[in-house]
Order: sequence, then C-alpha cells, then structure tokens
Amino acid sequence: MSDLANFREETRAWLAENCPPGARGPGPVSNGSTKITIKDADTLLWLERMVEKGWTVPNWPTAYGGGGLSNDQYLVLLEEMAAIHARPALSSFGTSMIGPTLLEFGTEDQKQRHLPPIARAELEWCQGYSEPGSGSDLASLSTRAEDKGDHYLINGQKIWTSGAHHADWMFCLVRTDADAPKHEGISFVLLPMDQPGVEIRPIRLISGESPFNETFFTNAIASKEDLVGELNQGWTVGKRLLQHERSGMESLVSGGAKGEVMSLVGEAKRSFGDQQGRIADGAYRSQVLKYEMDNRVFRMAQRRAVEESEGGTPGAVTSIFKVYGSELQQAYYDLLLKMRGTRGFPDTITDKGADNGQFSDKELMDTKQWLYYRAASIYSGSNEVQRNIIAKRVLGLPD
Ligand SMILES: Cc1cc2nc3c(=O)[nH]c(=O)nc-3n(C[C@H](O)[C@H](O)[C@H](O)COP(=O)(O)OP(=O)(O)OC[C@H]3O[C@@H](n4cnc5c(N)ncnc54)[C@H](O)[C@@H]3O)c2cc1C
Repeated sequence: MSDLANFREETRAWLAENCPPGARGPGPVSNGSTKITIKDADTLLWLERMVEKGWTVPNWPTAYGGGGLSNDQYLVLLEEMAAIHARPALSSFGTSMIGPTLLEFGTEDQKQRHLPPIARAELEWCQGYSEPGSGSDLASLSTRAEDKGDHYLINGQKIWTSGAHHADWMFCLVRTDADAPKHEGISFVLLPMDQPGVEIRPIRLISGESPFNETFFTNAIASKEDLVGELNQGWTVGKRLLQHERSGMESLVSGGAKGEVMSLVGEAKRSFGDQQGRIADGAYRSQVLKYEMDNRVFRMAQRRAVEESEGGTPGAVTSIFKVYGSELQQAYYDLLLKMRGTRGFPDTITDKGADNGQFSDKELMDTKQWLYYRAASIYSGSNEVQRNIIAKRVLGLPD
C-alpha cells in the first residue's frame, strides 16, 4: 500500500474514533477568541483533540503547532473529514489570513510568538484594512503610524472591522510615509486590541446583528517587533494576505466553514416531493440541478488550483474563487428561500424562531444567512474590483 493510502486509512480510523457525533454536521466552530465561550461539549472535545494532533492548521510546520502535513496528506484529511461531515475544529482570521501571511513574511520571533497561540485556538485576530473613503482604493488609506523609538504610535480610523469586538489582536495597514507614492508609504503592523488607544463601536446590519465595527485609534501602540516585512513595504504583505483570504480554502472542508453541506436537493425534495429519487417539480429540478453542477465544478476547480500551487495559497487566481464562490453562496440562499415561499421571510429581528416565534430556528437562520450573504460580493474586495484583478493579473489584459 502506498504511503498516502496508509495515511488515508490511519486518518479515517483516527477520525472515526476521535470526531464526536456533535462535531459532525452544522454547529458551532471555535474561532479561538478569548471573549467567546463555547458551551457545546463535543465541539470543545473535538477542538482539544485536533489541537493536540496539530490538525487545526494541518499544513503548518509542527514547530508552530501545525500538523506538518504535505499537500497530498492535507487534501486526504479534508476529504476524510468531508466524508463524515466533520466540522473544522477551528476557523479564524488567524488560521486563514494572518497565520499563512506570517509563515511567508514573518520573522522567526514573530512566528514563535504569534503562530502557536493561533494553532491552539487561544486567541482571535481582526483585519484593520478599510477606512471611510478607502475601501476599493485601499492604498489611499490615511491611518498614521509615527516612529517613537521602540514602538509606533497609531492615530486614525478603520471601518467594517469584522469581529473587532471579539478579537484579541489586529493586523493593520498604516501609513508610515505620507510623502511617498501611495503604495510605497504603507506598513503592515500587528497590535493588541485591549489597550486604551483602541475604541470599538459596533455597526448594526439589516439582519439585526452587529458582526462588524468602526475602530478608532487614539495614540494606539504597536511594538516595533510587530512590524511585518520592511517599513513602507506593507502593501506587498497586505496584498498577499488578501489572496489567502480570497482563496476560500477552508470551504474545501464540507463545503463551508461551519460544516454546512451546500446542497439543495434535500430541501427541494422536502418542498416538492420525491418522485422516484427525483425532485417532483420539473422547474425547480432544473434550477437545483444547475446550482448543484455549478457548485461541484467550482469545488473541483478550486481544488485543482490548490493542488497546482503545491499546498500554498494560489496567487491572483484567488480572485476567481472570490467572485464565483460569493455568487454561488448568494444563488444558494436565493433558491432556498424561493422554494420556501412565505416560510422564507420571517422577521429576522423580532422572531425568536422555535423559541416562541412563528418560524423554525432553521428558517430564521437561513433567512439571516440570505441577508448576510448579500455582503459576500462586497467583502474581501468587491466583485467588480476582483474582475479588474482577473482581467489584469490572470488574463493579462491591458489597463
Ligand atoms: C460584511 C463585511 C465585512 C467586512 N469586513 C472587513 C474587515 O474585517 N476588515 C476590513 O478592513 N474591511 C472589511 N470590509 C470592507 C470591505 O473590504 C469593503 O467594503 C470593500 O473593499 C468595498 O469598499 P467600500 O465599501 O469602501 O466601497 P467603495 O470602494 O466605495 O465601492 C463602491 C462601489 O464602487 C465599485 N467600485 C469601486 N472602485 C471600482 C473600480 N475601480 N472598478 C469598478 N468598480 C469599482 C465597487 O465595486 C462598489 O460596488 C467588510 C465589508 C463587509 C460588507
């Protein structure tokens, strides 16, 4: 038997024994934040076991708390987890964004200090990129960082900072040279959130939730040891982090970070009936079929790109994943709610779901997700901007 076949067998056996029933299928996933308590016992047990194995970050080096898996082994692990609908044990800005970026650009000291706590789910990060007036044109950002000897003093404002209220640390783009051309005066720094110079104000969404914030810096401090890459060269680091963000590699596990299986066949059969294995309504059958095929093709293309990049995050091609993946997420919820008819429109702010509401918890949650995913074509850089990147950097079209 080949080494990989052996690895598959061992992994399957280990997962069968160690992935508790409550960690399979949709449910909570830790993001490591010290400010969120997960109460579900199986979710916690799963996290503990995966941390011990290094499989919260399976392809990171073992020296930083990872599993040290090769690309092939990593893909086998993802397949075996998907086969039993195992949720990822940890899904965070740390594992998917700043961690891979530090592996590429961090000093040894930065890797030693920041990577193991991410792998062990001991803290969560947030992303300080966007500012009022600097979203798509991110390089125009104006939050200033002044050199004060052993630290930088930061003043300015960020916006749309997802999870800032739960985050322990922020990775942040700041202007360190106001006179340089705009892409050349930016640096990439790391700073703790719990300090007097950082103030967070929540922004409320149409779904009734406040998953993101305005973040204000008034003499906030970032240690010089936490400058990532060279001074004034932060744009290169920041852009690479966006590619890690846009790769959506985590969705290779079970279809979604929370272990959602993004298939509509079951729901369509429940809504319209099952006619010898087929969705009874012909019109919905073809719409669901189209969605399922698009989804399958997307996952295969994404996987091929990951294989070709030998385990690392692909480059500008990640913009294709971002555009197509976000449009698929929107198509999934559009079709799901259409199939539900009037059951698709609970009042997401006041309805309490099964707990005294008129709609089930699942109906309420799906409608919230439908509203939330309207933002998918905006966050991580809008889809229009991704199309510009695809035109220039993937297809090589002229400016
Ligand atoms: C749910 C959510 C979470 C987010 N989380 C974070 C976070 O954690 N941290 C963070 O820093 N930011 C975050 N963002 C911000 C996000 O990155 C920006 O919203 C996004 O980059 C767009 O910037 P903007 O909102 O300023 O829109 P604008 O840049 O003002 O764009 C407005 C419109 O113009 C279009 N447009 C702009 N320039 C061009 C162009 N050159 N060609 C074609 N069309 C163009 C855009 O596509 C868009 O439709 C989040 C956003 C959302 C919605």
